[in-house]
Amino acid sequence: MNAAAGSDWSGPGTEASAFMIGVDAAGRHVVPAADALLAIATSEQHPITGAACGARVIVARKWGQYHRNHPVLKSDDRLCPTCVWSAALATGRLEQELDALRPRDITLQVMVQLLPDPQILPRLCRSIIDQLGVDEQDHPRLIEVLAHATAHRPVLLLPEECGDGECDHQRCTGTDGVLACPACSLLAGGWAGEWEGQYQPECTIAAPCQVLTTLAASYGINVTDPADSHA
Ligand SMILES: [Zn+2]
Ligand SMILES: [Zn+2]
Ligand SMILES: [Zn+2]
Repeated sequence: MNAAAGSDWSGPGTEASAFMIGVDAAGRHVVPAADALLAIATSEQHPITGAACGARVIVARKWGQYHRNHPVLKSDDRLCPTCVWSAALATGRLEQELDALRPRDITLQVMVQLLPDPQILPRLCRSIIDQLGVDEQDHPRLIEVLAHATAHRPVLLLPEECGDGECDHQRCTGTDGVLACPACSLLAGGWAGEWEGQYQPECTIAAPCQVLTTLAASYGINVTDPADSHA
């Protein structure tokens, strides 16, 4: 099964911000622009610096400035949640980040079928923000909890034919899709070449996983009856 492209990270556009994009073997990160430019000035060929999460990354110079709706990030499951939340907090764009977590299109259609609350992730993240507060001194803790929740988000996996738009469904609504947790599941690494990131059949963990439901319980989100808990 493949992750549906653009299934869970797509969101509305934004203006430029003072960040650039960095890459490492694990995925894509966000780099403070000042650090990125310094790295480029030091070595244009191999601009290496630290991402917002602390990972050592190569600055993706040609991709320009980071913004949430950047084409190279829009459909990327391997976008670092710690970096994304760090940038959202630094630029005061929490609402936009919450909106980006909302399932859309085919993902939403499938989630409505499979989950009591398709909005579990954005609701949980909002509750985390409300309860921990956006206190300048305590950003690291807030980012840590938000990133943990987001890493265990439900991702829609579709059979290859559906993902490629070549299935026999008249109007494909992803009826054969399943929801999996990208953090709990085993995803193929770089050895897999073009299949990198594919969910491995021997360990594909259904979403919402225990991490997400445990966090939801801790932050007062009722996953079985969304009407029952505060949104
Ligand atoms: Zn990162
Ligand atoms: Zn998980
Ligand atoms: Zn289909």
